[in-house]
Amino acid sequence: MSRLFQRPAAPAELLIRGAHVLDPRTDLDEPHDILIRAGTIAELGSPGSLPAPAEGEVIDGAGKHAFPGFVDPHVHLRAPGQEYKETIETGTAAAAAGGFCAVLAMPNTSPVVDDPAVLRSLVDTARLTARVPVGFLASITRRLQGDKLTEMAALRDAGALGFTDDGNPVVSAGMLRKALQYQRLAGGVVALHEEDPALSSDGVMHEGAVSARLGLAGIPSLSESTMVARDAALARYEHARVHFQHLSCIESVEALAQAKRSGARISGEACPHHLTLTDDVVRTLDTRFKMNPPLRCESDRAALVQALASGVIDCVATDHAPHAQHEKEVPFEEAPMGTTGSETAFPALYTELVMTGELELDTLVARMTAGAALFDLPTPRVATGEPANLCLIDLEASFEVGAAGYVSRSQNCCFHGRSLHGRVLLTVAAGQVAFQAPLPTPARAPATRR
Ligand SMILES: [Zn+2]
Ligand SMILES: [Zn+2]
Repeated sequence: MSRLFQRPAAPAELLIRGAHVLDPRTDLDEPHDILIRAGTIAELGSPGSLPAPAEGEVIDGAGKHAFPGFVDPHVHLRAPGQEYKETIETGTAAAAAGGFCAVLAMPNTSPVVDDPAVLRSLVDTARLTARVPVGFLASITRRLQGDKLTEMAALRDAGALGFTDDGNPVVSAGMLRKALQYQRLAGGVVALHEEDPALSSDGVMHEGAVSARLGLAGIPSLSESTMVARDAALARYEHARVHFQHLSCIESVEALAQAKRSGARISGEACPHHLTLTDDVVRTLDTRFKMNPPLRCESDRAALVQALASGVIDCVATDHAPHAQHEKEVPFEEAPMGTTGSETAFPALYTELVMTGELELDTLVARMTAGAALFDLPTPRVATGEPANLCLIDLEASFEVGAAGYVSRSQNCCFHGRSLHGRVLLTVAAGQVAFQAPLPTPARAPATRR
């Protein structure tokens, strides 16, 4: 059964001419023509070799890069219940604008996705409105309260890709152990937001020199890493598949690496904001920098990048967390946690990590797509005969984040106002054109002589 859902649209008929195709999994790294016929990659050829299709559009890819479409295993689409922040339609449109060809939505909605009926109605909405295929995770415990398991098998039957209480940790080791035992029957990955509330308490930012200076309550790294270590041990003991969400600190990376060496079936993700920013920016008290887990310090950031490069951290996830402006325009202590990230993930990582030499471009592309396999979904590939899942990006073009507004319904982006390279021009998802940037305005005609 397919566990990804989207609205029907006409299959793409396209010729992308002369784009530099980079797909680490097919070993392609040179300019190609890409012919997409009826939504499938029909032919790859040397630049200028493929004839324009009788029907459909020809896109000039010269000087641009074509990558396999990105897969985001962690977004908040806010439906049902908080559609003033985001909807399945606007959230998947934002993802498409960021080069993503699939996203996985978290269940901490209102009501929580803890019941097959709620999940089925989301699937129905996705089938009518989702611009890119969307998969749904259901909650591990009822109402995310940590004390009663959901009916995991019934939720899998209704289409759940996996389970998470994201927003909350599963505090009780006994409860998580039980969930991992049920996972063996139900299947699907158990994804974990790791946080010990006894340690994070009422913290609003990373506990360190900056929080001390600002006099703000801190969240120690220990709050995350002790739970990663505990749950990796549980996963190993139960032979369960566990995925660690939004890892933020060096201690968690070390716990993950050690558990992987011991043979646990675990994986981990990191977010663009944790990979590129530190708690230093919180000095501005701009609430766009308030998220959970919090931005940590430079040694944490560097460790995350290194782990992403080595594969200890398996994939990039945005944790796209939209909030309305009025909710974020309050004092730092009172603001809700979260930043949007779908539209800026690739440009931020390309600009801050690849252009600076910290990360190779092909590694970044591999990690932007690796979330698929972790959730048993096919990995997008630029290869003949594959369904067209790709994005066309101009690495040279820079833009100011937010200057032209956002596709997301919300604007709480931690990269707001930054100048980033890597403009997404086109996203084809599951054979359909999901996003196409407005054509650049033609150079102004010379002024008439006065
Ligand atoms: Zn979370
Ligand atoms: Zn989240």
